[in-house]
Amino acid sequence: MIVLGSTGSIGVNALFIAKKFGIDIEVLVAGHNYKLLNEQIKTHKPKLVIVANEGIKKKVIHSTVYCGEEAILSMLKDSKSDLVVNALVGFMGLTPTIESIKLNKTVALANKESLVVAGKFIDTTKIIAIDSEHFAIWYLLNGREVSKITITASGGALRDTPLKDMENVSLKKVLSHPNWSMGNKITIDSATMVNKVFELIETKWLFNTNKVDALIEKNSYIHAIVDFIDGSSTMQVSNPDMKLAIAFALNRKLSTNILPNLDLTNKSFEFTPIDKARYPIWEYKDEIVNNPNLGVVINASNELAISNFISQKISFNDISKNIIKSMEKYNNLEIKNIDDIFLINQEINCLANT
Ligand code: NDP
Repeated sequence: MIVLGSTGSIGVNALFIAKKFGIDIEVLVAGHNYKLLNEQIKTHKPKLVIVANEGIKKKVIHSTVYCGEEAILSMLKDSKSDLVVNALVGFMGLTPTIESIKLNKTVALANKESLVVAGKFIDTTKIIAIDSEHFAIWYLLNGREVSKITITASGGALRDTPLKDMENVSLKKVLSHPNWSMGNKITIDSATMVNKVFELIETKWLFNTNKVDALIEKNSYIHAIVDFIDGSSTMQVSNPDMKLAIAFALNRKLSTNILPNLDLTNKSFEFTPIDKARYPIWEYKDEIVNNPNLGVVINASNELAISNFISQKISFNDISKNIIKSMEKYNNLEIKNIDDIFLINQEINCLANT
C-alpha cells in the first residue's frame, strides 16, 4: 500500500489500521514533519520515501528518499501496490488521484478536494472515500429507492460563538474543534461549513444524486441519514473516529473490533438546520451542487483565503466573503476538460498575487 500524507491526521490513522491488518507499506509520502516520518519508517519499513523538498530530504533516515510532486507521480508509475491512500491536503492531491486511477489502482480517498474540483472527470468506481459521512451512506444504502441523503455537521469550533465576535476570532479558537482531531485546513473548513459543502459535492459524485442536504448534530454520533421513498429513514450511529471509515477503505469489507459501539443509554440526538447567518456559504449549497464547475473556484479561493487568514491578512469572516465573491465572478464558467481545472486554479491563484 502507498500512503500519501502519512504524517497527517488521516495518514497516522491509516498506518495504525494498516499495522492492525498486517498490510505491507511500499511507500510513505509526507511533507515537512520528518521526525514523525522517521518513526513511521522504523515501524513500517517502506521501500521508498518522498517528502516536500530537498531541505527535509536531508533529514530523513532512509536509503531511498525523493522529493517533490514529480517524484510522487513517477513513484506511482513504478509501484507495485494496487491501493493508494490519498491523505494529502488541498489541490495538490488531485494529480495523484488522477494518476492512480489511470494506473488502475484503487484510491482510498481522504483528499476530498480531488472530487470537489474534478468530480465529473473522475472514475468513482476506483475510489473508496475516507470520510465518515460517505462511509455511513454506503452503510445505509441497500438497493432500496432513496428519496434523499442527509449528512451531518458538528458545526465546527465557532458554532456557539456570538455572531458579533466572529469577525475578530483567533486562529487558535477556530482550530479548537469540539469533536474531531483533524488537520488545520479541514478544521477551518468545518468552522466555515465549507467542509460540509465539499461533502455534499462528494456525495453527488460518489452516489450519483443531487438530492443531498445536511443538518447539524452537535455530538457527531450520527453521520448520515438516508430517506427512502416509502417514508422510512435510517441513520448510521458510531463514535466520532475516522478509523471506521479507514478500516473499510483498506480492507474493503467490514472488519472486527475497530471501535466500541456507542452506548446509547441516556444519549439524546438533536438535529438543527444550518444557520446561513453563521455559515454564509450555506446560502449557495444548492447552486454549488447543481453547478459542479464551481468546485474548482470555491476550492481555490478557499485555499487562498485560509492561507491569508492563517497569516493574519484577513479576518475569519473574510474567508466566506472571498469565496462568495469568486463564485459570483466565475458564475458562467465552462469547464470542458481536466486541463481547464488546472488553468482556473492557476488563474485564481495568480490573480490573488497581482
Ligand atoms: P493534515 O494536514 O493533518 O495532513 C496533510 C498531510 O499532507 C500531511 O502528511 C502533510 O505532511 C502532507 N503534505 C502537506 N504538504 C505536502 C507536500 N508538499 N508534499 C507531500 N506531503 C505534503 O490533513 P488531514 O489528515 O486532516 O486531511 C487530509 C485530507 O483528508 C484533507 O483533504 C481532508 O479534508 C481530508 N479528511 C480529513 C479528515 C480528518 O479527520 N482529518 C476526515 C475526512 C477527510 P507534513 O505534516 O509532514 O507536512
